[in-house]
Amino acid sequence: MSISVATNLSLIRSQIPDNVKLVAVSKTKPVEDILQAYNAGQRLFGENRVQEIVRKKDLLPDDIEWHMIGHLQSNKVKSIVSFISMIQSVDSVNLLNVINSEAAKKERIVDCLLELYIASEETKSGFSMEELETALESGKISELKNIRICGLMGMATFTNDEARVRGEFRYLNETFVRLKERYFKNEIFFREISMGMSGDYRIAIGEGSTMIRVGSLIFGERNTNKQQNG
Ligand SMILES: *Cc1c(COP(=O)(O)O)cnc(C)c1O
Repeated sequence: MSISVATNLSLIRSQIPDNVKLVAVSKTKPVEDILQAYNAGQRLFGENRVQEIVRKKDLLPDDIEWHMIGHLQSNKVKSIVSFISMIQSVDSVNLLNVINSEAAKKERIVDCLLELYIASEETKSGFSMEELETALESGKISELKNIRICGLMGMATFTNDEARVRGEFRYLNETFVRLKERYFKNEIFFREISMGMSGDYRIAIGEGSTMIRVGSLIFGERNTNKQQNG
């Protein structure tokens, strides 16, 4: 049975407020599926592997905005820096430095989100709260002129425990508010809280998400082989 990407998209769109952006997570899916979403008006897509994003980008329309949402190795930044719209998965100061210098070479300013580790699973990546505070307190991040920190990204624990997921999203939102006040007060670009996936986007929106990243609800289940990153 074929899945109607357009139908899935319009169903999700009908359920989210206008101010929440929908990132269609197309990892592992063929360009034909992405084109179906594109033809249904979707322009914002998320991928988690550099190789895959580079390959797909060349086969698809130029007005697609690509977001990198998976762990990014610093030696691969230069492959995507010329076209990427946003890197959501920034999880170290070193990576920020590399993005900044590669962006400078291309005379670009690259939008980034700082990924905060909010889940209780050890497999999830991101800054710890302490690492993030240390990095921001040092003042070094604000010196990087070819990146723009647009907010925070986080992934909740994969669990049916709704209260737990809600609590983690709430924590991300509270952290956003606190960091905004302390480090980004006059930065109009610091305004995104990227949280919520197929299984928990309703909860995330309830807790103030501005950007949800939805894959399987749009494109169908992925092959269950473990996702590779980078
Ligand atoms: C795969 C992925 C998603 C989408 O997951 P679904 O459950 O298929 O909606 C969202 N965010 C990140 C970081 C991902 O890797």
